[in-house]
Amino acid sequence: VIPLEEARRHVLERVAPLAPARVPLAAARGLVLAEAVTAPADVPPFPNTAMDGYAVRAADTAGASDAAPVRLPVVAEVAAGHPASRALAPGEAMRIFTGAPMPDGADAVVMVEATARLDAGAAVAIGIEVTPGLHVRGAGDDLRAGEVVFEPGQVLTPSHVGVLANVGAAEVRVVPRPRVGVLSTGDELVVPGRPLGPGQIHDSNRPMLLALVAEAGFEPVDLGLVADDESRIAAALTDGASTCDALLSSGGVSMGDLDLVKVVLDRLGEMRWMQLAIRPAKPFAFGLVGDRPTPVFGLPGNPVSSLVSFELLARPALRRLAGHPDDALVRQSVAAVAGERLGRRPDGKVHFARVRLRPGEDGRFVATSAGAQGSHQLTAVARADGLAVLPDGDGVDPGQPVEVLPLGP
Ligand code: AMP
Ligand code: MG
Repeated sequence: VIPLEEARRHVLERVAPLAPARVPLAAARGLVLAEAVTAPADVPPFPNTAMDGYAVRAADTAGASDAAPVRLPVVAEVAAGHPASRALAPGEAMRIFTGAPMPDGADAVVMVEATARLDAGAAVAIGIEVTPGLHVRGAGDDLRAGEVVFEPGQVLTPSHVGVLANVGAAEVRVVPRPRVGVLSTGDELVVPGRPLGPGQIHDSNRPMLLALVAEAGFEPVDLGLVADDESRIAAALTDGASTCDALLSSGGVSMGDLDLVKVVLDRLGEMRWMQLAIRPAKPFAFGLVGDRPTPVFGLPGNPVSSLVSFELLARPALRRLAGHPDDALVRQSVAAVAGERLGRRPDGKVHFARVRLRPGEDGRFVATSAGAQGSHQLTAVARADGLAVLPDGDGVDPGQPVEVLPLGP
């Protein structure tokens, strides 16, 4: 029996980021940048107006007020995408619309609310005095040409995608999204939607793991439900290993005679079978299968155990495949206090109790049990906000501090 940290280290030492590739911007969200991005030109590329109004020389508005407006001839209209065809001369105004380039010669914009149209638009009355630069967005005042915008390792969010578009990048070099194959094994399993025969249960792990994979930002690949049959399990794992970047199987990794995933994986790859000093999710297997080779996670069959192993072991390793930096692989726990007794018995293991969190008065969360804690009782996981880390011992009394690993996106 080994500590969780040792198993995690073993796994992380054996996975490396996928080879970077260029992807179109539309596919970049959530991926990790594999290059530094530099702005090739100023953003915005030219000075432009932040307001609808009149482009002027600020000096021409000297002394203007509501009571004594300055009258200027309007010599042109400048709209976004349509620069003025000539410069603004002293004593002139141009009608200008938000985003339009500032005409040469103009140095300020009078917002339309401070003006009155005269002579059917041929002239304007300006009721305020403006200073140079007013309502002008300078070239490069967001990004300067040559400026490093993002560093490698940056996770691309929607706003990063927007900035990349701003600097004219149609493609970006990233670590590709890992394709993660998921299969379930077990003669007792039936796909949801089919009626249950005697002794049968629904396959909950596969839909759940596919959803966990997607939620974590990877591409889920459904490798199906496989019977307890050596050759079928071997075929599913071999196919999966050749088409996916990683595989998650659930079930068949305990010590029973029918634990055929264990038998097959031992034949196909270099596996390590572990018993972890945690509860739930004690049995866990990891290895490399095929020529590429493909990392394979043998998760336990009990659904709660499957989810907990995914969270504690598979997710960090898949994040490494996806190029996330070392300090961003494992979830950070949040500090909470027990809102009731979170009981357990000493057994040499760390327990992960499914808990709900609510905000407490001192800024810490208050953790209470999310329901029945059996490793087959998935409902409490669905109701939980996180996994409370209960070190070996008698549990945590009300009011005592407890660390909680958040679940979810
Ligand atoms: P195993 O590790 O295959 O012996 O499975 C341990 C327990 O988990 C048994 O009660 C199985 O019926 C159950 N189990 C295995 N796979 C799944 C699954 N995909 N969905 C729901 N329960 C499962
Ligand atoms: Mg089984």
